[in-house]
Amino acid sequence: MMHFSCDICGKDMTQDGAERYVLKMEAFAAATALTDDDLETDHVEEMARMLNDLEDGDEPPQPLPTCKKMRFDLCPNCFRKFVHDPLGRENAAKFDFSPN
Ligand SMILES: [Zn+2]
Repeated sequence: MMHFSCDICGKDMTQDGAERYVLKMEAFAAATALTDDDLETDHVEEMARMLNDLEDGDEPPQPLPTCKKMRFDLCPNCFRKFVHDPLGRENAAKFDFSPN
């Protein structure tokens, strides 16, 4: 059985009927001419390696990838927040943690 949890708040969404939203993001250097082959490249391994590096700390910064595709599972609550403020600019501007 697949296990799903919200990548932002960690809410468990495994149970049947749980609302779940999939967020796909793709970022790439605008000057780079990408071929279909580049876009098909699987970056999951690379991402896992980067996450490991982050956890280890003290690693030298890696060169920026020219293309980055990411996939996240979001609960309805986090999805709503995301579409309202995709880049987190509101949180960056003011730290307002009012309970809701
Ligand atoms: Zn969530």
